[in-house]
Amino acid sequence: EYQAALQIASEHAVTSDGTAIEVAANIGSLADAKKAVELGAEGVGLLRTEFLYLDRITAPTEDEQTEIYTDILQAMGPDRPVIIRTLDVGGDKPLAYLPLPAEENPFLGERGIRVGINRPSILRTQIRALLRSAKAGKLRVMLPMIGSLDEFRAVKKLMDDESANLNTSVELGIMIEVPSAALMAQELAREAAFFSIGTNDLTQYTLAMDRGHPRMASRIDGLHPAVLRMIAMTCKGAAAEQRWTGVCGGLASDLDAIPLLLGLGVNELSVSVPTLPLVKAKVRQLDITRCRKLASEALNREDGAQVRALLKQWQEQE
Ligand code: PEP
Ligand code: MG
Repeated sequence: EYQAALQIASEHAVTSDGTAIEVAANIGSLADAKKAVELGAEGVGLLRTEFLYLDRITAPTEDEQTEIYTDILQAMGPDRPVIIRTLDVGGDKPLAYLPLPAEENPFLGERGIRVGINRPSILRTQIRALLRSAKAGKLRVMLPMIGSLDEFRAVKKLMDDESANLNTSVELGIMIEVPSAALMAQELAREAAFFSIGTNDLTQYTLAMDRGHPRMASRIDGLHPAVLRMIAMTCKGAAAEQRWTGVCGGLASDLDAIPLLLGLGVNELSVSVPTLPLVKAKVRQLDITRCRKLASEALNREDGAQVRALLKQWQEQE
């Protein structure tokens, strides 16, 4: 029975009306990659590279990084795309080998790609390692916390330089997790190869609520219409430039939210490894036209609770 379930999990996730939705995995290690393949991942939608080095007190070298990226690409095989995100530290994510100065507002300070832009040698080392591992599989590189075109362009330039040095190239995409990026989606889509929405941070920054704050926990809701409008705007901006949009934040692993995400125009879902088979099964039940109707209704609700009520009601009549 387990084997039969794995067989179903390994088949593609296509909606009832024939729309293919890529269901990929969020991973943080080589072991996760192997487990993801077993559970039917069609790729990796997010490798959090900071997770590879949490126990380090010295920075990983270019060779060390090349080796682990190569191993992960090989584990995923030649046909599954693997999105590797550059180091995302700062805010709630400390890294022993990269101590950052204390700040008044760490979530609004040096965080994500800003750390790399301010320390180009660390970013350059990682980008070189990524480029050197590219031939081992189907690599895509993704930047966290992009908030403006000039941040994207600064990193793109660094990457173009190293691509020329190493005589190779890979697609460069960005996370959409800051409201300014969602608002500028179409302009960013002209230059970035793809988008993946980080709903954890996008919710935090849209609602101005700390994602880890115990007294905000019940109110920080990725289904708030304000967040949904950010997602809709992102998908629209991407589609206008023939780019695809994924979601790699926690909302993609929320089975109730999936019809809504597809209705908003999301093309790829990157989810926690254990939920892969459930997410694929969910996608197969859905009809995109109906999902779009649901999404347009949800965008006009007043708060997250109303959206949840709508989803529940929709579920019951399906
Ligand atoms: C997110 O913000 O939704 C995301 C996927 O990135 P992280 O959780 O690693 O900040
Ligand atoms: Mg994030």
